[in-house]
Amino acid sequence: MYDIGLSILALGAGALAGSFLNVLIHRGPALWGLVDAAEGGNGDFFRPRSYCPECRAPIPYLFLIPVVGYVVLRGRCANCDAKIPIRYPLVEIAAALHTLAALALFGPTPAAVFAAFFGWTLLALAVIDWETGYLPDWLTGTLALIGLAANAFSIFAPPVDAIIGAAAGAVSFWAIGALWRRWRGVEALGLGDAKLLGALGAWMGWEALPIIVLVGSLASLAGVALSSLRGAKISTRDAVPFGPGLALGGYLVFLTIPLAP
Ligand SMILES: [Zn+2]
Repeated sequence: MYDIGLSILALGAGALAGSFLNVLIHRGPALWGLVDAAEGGNGDFFRPRSYCPECRAPIPYLFLIPVVGYVVLRGRCANCDAKIPIRYPLVEIAAALHTLAALALFGPTPAAVFAAFFGWTLLALAVIDWETGYLPDWLTGTLALIGLAANAFSIFAPPVDAIIGAAAGAVSFWAIGALWRRWRGVEALGLGDAKLLGALGAWMGWEALPIIVLVGSLASLAGVALSSLRGAKISTRDAVPFGPGLALGGYLVFLTIPLAP
C-alpha cells in the first residue's frame, strides 16, 4: 500500500486530467476537422475558457473543480439551468480512478506516469469514437509515439517487440478491413481502428495483439447486446463503432502487464 498522500495526489491529478480530457473530447473533433465546427465552437483547447454550451456563459472557476462542481450545481448550468451531460463527471471519475490504479500497479515510477497517460488517451479515444464515430489521428498517433518512446527503455515491452507490434497491429486490421470491403461491400474496420490497434501494439508488443483483439471483440459484442436489450435495432450491416470496445480490451490487457512473470 502506497503513501496515502501520494494516492490522494494521484486521484487529484487524474481528476484534473479528466477535466482536460472533457475539453479535448468536446472541442477536439471540431478543431481536427472531423465534425462541423459549430459543434465545438471557435478557439483552441485553452481559449475561450470553459463555457456552458447552451447559453455560452463562462463557468465560474469554483465550479470547474472536477466532480465537485457538477455535484454542487446538481448537474445544471448556474446561469441557464441547462443540463450538464453526465459524461463530464464520469470522465473525471474514470480518469481519477485510472491514475490511482496506475500508481498502485507500477508504484511511484516513470512506468506509472506512462501508464497514466496511456489510460487517459484511451479514455478520450473511446468517448470521441462513441460520440462521433471517429478515432482522431492526433490521438492514435500520439499514443503510438509515446508507447514507442516508453519501450525504447523496455518499460512495457522490448523495443523490437513494440515496433513489430505497432506495424503488425495496423497492417493486420487494415488488411482485414480491405478484404471485408471487397467481399461484403461494407466498411467493417475503419482505418482509425487499424491505427488504434497499431498504437496498442506499440505499448504492449506484438504478442499481446491476439488477446487484445479477442477481449476488444467481446467488449464490443457486449456493448451491442446491451444496446439491443435497451431497444435499439441493430442489423449486421450497421456500422457499430469498434473503437470503444478495442480501447477497453487494450486497457484490460494492459492492466495485466505487472502480473506477467
Ligand atoms: Zn447555461
